[in-house]
Amino acid sequence: MLNRNLIGGEWIAAHAATVNSSPSDTSDIVGEYASADTQDVENAIEAAANAFPAWSRTTPEFRSDILDRAGNEIIARQDEIGRVLAREEGKTLPEAIGETVRAGRIFKYFAGEALRLEGERLDSVRSGIEVELIREPEGVIGIITPWNFPIAIPAWKIAPALAHGNTVVFKPAELVPGCAWIITDILARAGIPAGVFNLVMGKGSVVGDAIVKSNRVRAVSFTGSVATGRRIGIGCMERGKKVQLELGGKNPLIIAADADLDVAVNVAINGSYFSTGQRCTASSRLVVDDSIHDVFVERMVAAMSRLKVDNALKAGVDVGPVASSSQLAQDLAYIDLGRKEGAKLAFGGEPLQLDTEGYFLQPALFIETDNTMRINREEIFGPVASVIRVRDYEEAVAVANDTEFGLASGICTTSLKLTSDFKRRSQAGMVMVNVPTAGVDYHVPFGGRKASSYGAREQGKHAREFYTALKTVYIRP
Ligand code: ADP
Repeated sequence: MLNRNLIGGEWIAAHAATVNSSPSDTSDIVGEYASADTQDVENAIEAAANAFPAWSRTTPEFRSDILDRAGNEIIARQDEIGRVLAREEGKTLPEAIGETVRAGRIFKYFAGEALRLEGERLDSVRSGIEVELIREPEGVIGIITPWNFPIAIPAWKIAPALAHGNTVVFKPAELVPGCAWIITDILARAGIPAGVFNLVMGKGSVVGDAIVKSNRVRAVSFTGSVATGRRIGIGCMERGKKVQLELGGKNPLIIAADADLDVAVNVAINGSYFSTGQRCTASSRLVVDDSIHDVFVERMVAAMSRLKVDNALKAGVDVGPVASSSQLAQDLAYIDLGRKEGAKLAFGGEPLQLDTEGYFLQPALFIETDNTMRINREEIFGPVASVIRVRDYEEAVAVANDTEFGLASGICTTSLKLTSDFKRRSQAGMVMVNVPTAGVDYHVPFGGRKASSYGAREQGKHAREFYTALKTVYIRP
């Protein structure tokens, strides 16, 4: 069954397969999954287009019940699904189970949102005319997702798309078909009508490209790298499609002179290294006030030396492997580059040989860096963070905002004045005070500014901006 895509309500065997192996132990094969070709994608888009008229007219309650059932099943099977997630992506088992529960809760949240979709009614500026604003589904939505959150990111795109009456063609990242397949199987058994939700696993350059190029796909929601996202954005614009892009980050965490250092070290360790640093919201730039720089670095190094890096399935592991050999190569190339740029490694940065053959990397902390270095400008997407020493808070804010990205930012401070000032001046979509830059709630908007995001926000009630079209109606009764 794993070597099948769901197209038009049928599990269709693929002509090719991808072997899904664990980055913790490359001999651990999670499964052989389908790899769709362009004909499969065309069939999926056609099925979604054909299913749209009936699905868009279902009652909100009908859609809500399906999403609620799916959410309940995901939560009930959290240990089993979390294990598949940890095996295929490499985040630790507790992190993977946490992500699974979050995905279930997202489905349940949007089960509620399906019932809350509202319009507006106004009097016209012309007498005797009424104006109504109505929200309608867009049509077929293409969903293209990355490997770092194999169940939560698909959930936060699929659930609002379906809640608001759209049909879906879903293409997960090649590294993580396992969670995508499980979500699809759960939705199919939760009663989703044939063609409303279609899974096409396979290559980005084949499956993703065909989704972007199809004139029958009305909108594309994408999360992934900047380069791919920009290409997809242009492809959508050329064809008049709505597009939403969640891309990279180079998120600053300011450690102010008055920070509680216990809090600051915990927040920095979590934000920089948990989930192996493979979060677009990871704190990759630690902007530290000169007056506490040395003690902060000393305490970070002590905390990092206690982090246990190992197989994601082992108990007590803090940091799992890097997700793939190519990502490990990228991380190591940036670590080399950092050294060449004149930065010093205060800790880590070495590949680790452990009991199992996996892509393990000792989390790295660079010091003596400045904000012009490429390691502080480009997203590394691994367990690598830099300390940037600043004179004072003013310089910290300037450094924090001096980036092409603007996803998340953070500050550790005990001052209400700095909190209040930073939340206004930070040029990021999400601002965290004494909490890690990574790790967000599911019922409020997620997204950034500048090169980090394009289009409407994801999650929470604001997700409807992307998944519905607004119609203005004038009536003379
Ligand atoms: P990463 O693999 O680092 O998450 P990518 O941006 O390469 O970042 O991938 C994100 C998603 O985009 C994946 O599902 C991938 O298969 C898909 N993708 C890659 N290239 C293309 C493309 N040319 N067109 C559409 N989708 C693509």
